[in-house]
Amino acid sequence: MKNDYLQVMIEAIRQNGYKMQTMVAIEEMSELTKELVKFMRGEHNTDAIAEEIVDVEIMLRQMKIIYGIKDEDVEKLMVIKLERLKERLEGRKNG
Ligand SMILES: [Mg+2]
Repeated sequence: MKNDYLQVMIEAIRQNGYKMQTMVAIEEMSELTKELVKFMRGEHNTDAIAEEIVDVEIMLRQMKIIYGIKDEDVEKLMVIKLERLKERLEGRKNG
């Protein structure tokens, strides 16, 4: 991602504060939830789902900045969790 955008997110946190940005993150996650529920009810709203995924991603990046979570640590945990999932799926397939 462009370094400018990192600066934009840092500035958003600086101007609005961590509590407001955390609240916005919670709101955006609920907006994504709402769109997923609509899809499950039969709406063809994949554009809206994509938009909400982007909103959530942007807020997750801010959450990482606010709560001091490093990208490399997220990557490491993701590998651990995906390996665990892979093992579970393989276990199901073989036994
Ligand atoms: Mg949104």
